[in-house]
Amino acid sequence: MAIERTFSIIKPDATARNLTGAVNAIIEKAGLRIVAQKRILMTRAQAETFYAVHKARPFFGELVDFMTSGPVVVQVLEGEGAILKYRDVMGATDPSKAADGTIRKVHAKSIGENSVHGSDAAETAAIEIAQFFAGNEIVG
Ligand code: ATP
Ligand code: MG
Repeated sequence: MAIERTFSIIKPDATARNLTGAVNAIIEKAGLRIVAQKRILMTRAQAETFYAVHKARPFFGELVDFMTSGPVVVQVLEGEGAILKYRDVMGATDPSKAADGTIRKVHAKSIGENSVHGSDAAETAAIEIAQFFAGNEIVG
């Protein structure tokens, strides 16, 4: 499998509980390399653009409120098959359905406050990385 890059967000519920390092430990233990990382406060415009695909969903307003409620850590992760691998490491969207040892099983609070985001495909990974990082901020 090829070396890929995926986009990750450590969400406000996790930063609020001081879990950045704990989440990063799970990421690195899985063999993914953090090749870019910064802590930011997302604007509403950034969150609305990022989750535009969910605009028509009933939880969209709540999702934007949550993603702008506190600091997030945006990251680029690199590794063999990184996109699917990180989805596995994150676990299911609903933490009650997530597999043992996954970030969401171990740390997430609810289906909304679920600690992490990861890109779902190569095309979305490229778009999401470009929304938050300049090329020279990513050092593999
Ligand atoms: P993400 O895109 O954040 O990696 P995901 O791909 O597992 O998560 P999506 O279906 O893309 O899940 O939903 C995006 C986000 O919207 C979820 O991570 C969660 O924070 C929120 N969300 C999804 N479903 C619900 C719901 N039923 N109620 C509240 N929030 C939800
Ligand atoms: Mg998604």
